[in-house]
Amino acid sequence: MSEEIETDVLIVGAGPCGLTVANLLGVYGIRATLLDRESEILDFPRAVGIDDESLRTYQAAGLVGSLFADMLQNTPIRYHTSWGRCFAHVKPSVQPFGWPRRNLFLQPLYEAVLRQGLARFEQLDVRFGHDLRSFDEDDGGITAQVKGPGGAVNVRAQYLVGADGGRSTARTLAGIELTGTTAPVKWLVVDVCDDELDAPFAAVYCHPLSPVLVVPLPYRHRRFEFKLQPEDDEEEMTRPERVHELLAPHYRSLSMPTVVRSRVYWHHSRVAETFQKGRVFLAGDAAHLQPPFFGQGLNSGVRDATNLSWKLAAVVSGAADRRMLETYDVERRGHARAMVSFATRIGKMYSPRSLAAERARDASFRALQLIPGGREYILQMKYKPMPRYKSGVVVRAGDGRTDPVGRMFMQPVVEKADRRRVKLDDAIGTWFAVLGIHVDPTLHLSEESLQWWKSLGAGFFFVRAARSVPLPEEAGQLAPLPPTGTMTETLEDVDGAFRDWLLAAPRRSIIVLRPDRYVAATCDPAELEDTTRQLRRVMNPGAR
Ligand SMILES: Cc1cc2nc3c(=O)[nH]c(=O)nc-3n(C[C@H](O)[C@H](O)[C@H](O)COP(=O)(O)OP(=O)(O)OC[C@H]3O[C@@H](n4cnc5c(N)ncnc54)[C@H](O)[C@@H]3O)c2cc1C
Repeated sequence: MSEEIETDVLIVGAGPCGLTVANLLGVYGIRATLLDRESEILDFPRAVGIDDESLRTYQAAGLVGSLFADMLQNTPIRYHTSWGRCFAHVKPSVQPFGWPRRNLFLQPLYEAVLRQGLARFEQLDVRFGHDLRSFDEDDGGITAQVKGPGGAVNVRAQYLVGADGGRSTARTLAGIELTGTTAPVKWLVVDVCDDELDAPFAAVYCHPLSPVLVVPLPYRHRRFEFKLQPEDDEEEMTRPERVHELLAPHYRSLSMPTVVRSRVYWHHSRVAETFQKGRVFLAGDAAHLQPPFFGQGLNSGVRDATNLSWKLAAVVSGAADRRMLETYDVERRGHARAMVSFATRIGKMYSPRSLAAERARDASFRALQLIPGGREYILQMKYKPMPRYKSGVVVRAGDGRTDPVGRMFMQPVVEKADRRRVKLDDAIGTWFAVLGIHVDPTLHLSEESLQWWKSLGAGFFFVRAARSVPLPEEAGQLAPLPPTGTMTETLEDVDGAFRDWLLAAPRRSIIVLRPDRYVAATCDPAELEDTTRQLRRVMNPGAR
């Protein structure tokens, strides 16, 4: 007899991407089952870098504190030529989204925190040692056949999320191709601990033949990546004596570290031809694979998870029409492709084809840093491709380079009514938010539109100018902010970030934020009614 399970969302794969989807669905109150064929966290050397966008996701998932505790922030990266000159120095210091842009971590610790997070949600059913074997789709949902430790399990779900890695069973079963290339080169990746090297920066030695990457990690760990030669034998190169030979020049008179893991990787640049087929969605490595040079494989998977989770939650809870889910592929696939090609290009910069190519690269970097803004462009990592959704769950997304619609919104610090200073997302919750700068948005909505926003579960916020209340009776003793008299909460713009926004765009005093903190719409208060109508259409494409 097989075990029968019924759920709303079946998530296959409890790697970073699947765990993120599960935690977010937990926060949104959605019933889900998470499966992984393994019981233990994978112990391969993998991701070491996580970005500010991902940390914002974990802020929403309520896990950022524990994750942040095990990370290093703002570690610089130095790029060296083969003759030892540092030709580029990257050290982002700005925090537009409320978190440092570069954070170094140990993937097994991070996955352990994400696994712990699942226990907070009663409606999540988590099963390790469960292997997806096949599934059938009909008009009402998906029935998946799974092999569990106790025998066969059938899972009936409305939707299936294939977050089962590069060799995704879900992708294969859905008949979706992963198109692209695999580079004919292999890299040896070595993680060490008990590291005594006094080098608190990441270094990339861009040698045409044998480039090397060295990345400091928390708790005296360090990552080394060595490009291998075509004739190098994988087994031979991972022998402890051989690994020791490669590490020795980096430690010289220092004692040698302990090798934790070493493994040879091939680099893939591949993207699935679609991220959705019927009720099946691909996310993370199942949907795209990129060389690890820009440290964005996991981060891209977290972007998928963040984009998909709130959409599934909106549809499963009845707040949006099922066809809205088609915007997942529309919004995510193009950016995933851009990230894959960017990471592939960065890899070419690491190992130029010849000395002439290396000298040309060196000269162009030197020239770039001489032009105004060029140094900042490199230093602050402004070259990172950022998502910009021109279609999907957005209203009136213009073409301009500065149009905020479809981009991730800033995260300044604000003061709540009780005068506590918090990051914006902690003040506005994890779902839709309608912000009015110096205006209460609810006063510009018809009763019908207000009811729609309420049924969606959106929050309303009136952002006051900093210190715009009357002079306090006593110096340094601020009274709580006065209530609005409507359902709208008041916040105070203590960072001045909303003031600057309004100075730049006086007609954008209303901002509609999606749960993933992308801007769905901006408008003048007089246009809020029309903006609401348009957003309703986008979220309910099937409705008349
Ligand atoms: C050397 C290296 C360095 C990297 N560095 C970075 C970095 O610095 N930053 C970054 O962002 N990314 C980096 N990456 C990429 C990153 O590690 C991956 O993108 C990320 O781990 C993918 O997560 P995922 O959840 O999509 O898939 P995975 O981590 O592969 O998880 C998939 C899960 O699905 C399970 N599974 C598979 N098939 C089934 C099935 N049939 N049934 C049930 N379960 C199944 C597997 O057991 C696994 O647990 C690096 C990768 C490598 C190799």
